[in-house]
Amino acid sequence: MLFEEFGFDNRILNSIGHLGFEHATEIQARAIPEAMAGRDLLASSKTGSGKTLAYLLPALHRVYKKKALSRRDPRVVVLVPTRELAKQVFGQLRLLLAGSRFTSVLIQGGENFNDQHKQLQKDPHFIVATPGRLVDHLKQRNFYLEGLELLILDEADRMLDLGFAEAMRAINSSANHRQRQTLFFSATLDNTDVSDIAAELLKEPSRVAIGQGF
Ligand code: ADP
Ligand code: MG
Repeated sequence: MLFEEFGFDNRILNSIGHLGFEHATEIQARAIPEAMAGRDLLASSKTGSGKTLAYLLPALHRVYKKKALSRRDPRVVVLVPTRELAKQVFGQLRLLLAGSRFTSVLIQGGENFNDQHKQLQKDPHFIVATPGRLVDHLKQRNFYLEGLELLILDEADRMLDLGFAEAMRAINSSANHRQRQTLFFSATLDNTDVSDIAAELLKEPSRVAIGQGF
């Protein structure tokens, strides 16, 4: 499937053109239409199959096409398990947002808390974060998630392995707008801890699993 066929906003097609990609990978071809339709999504596919764009592109589309639910709260939060992954995803997002009016911040453990607080006070549209540090800012009331439109969990199984279940739940319950959409990516879906938290976070999700028997 060609990226042109999804019905993306032209600004998104331009950004994809800059990346040099023309054809969607399999997970992108299956996940993007579900996400663009506004449905919750439970998805898995192997490493290197292109999951980052499978969630970032529909996130951008939503932000470009729809009015914000809140003037101050972030519109999209991407949770990832590690600082390294946070940096990678943030880099990819920055490329896609280049030239747009939308702003983004990276909130990860191990960096200066007050600097992050200042960045959150500027009301960024997108946040890429590791769960523990984001919850620390939530507890300090440095920002709010009531107006969040899209919660994305990348490598959710690894976040659980690293002990982030409670942080994921805290973020989930703070982001309580009834129009919130959730995209949940995991290397595996047939694991009780993963399916339990997916059941808590997602509403009647579409399932897309590439290369795993269902
Ligand atoms: P995953 O999260 O599934 O491990 P990534 O999102 O990190 O995979 O993507 C792996 C690599 O594939 C990255 O270098 C990315 O830029 C590249 N990539 C993503 N989508 C495409 C595409 N449609 N065509 C070619 N390369 C792609
Ligand atoms: Mg990935």
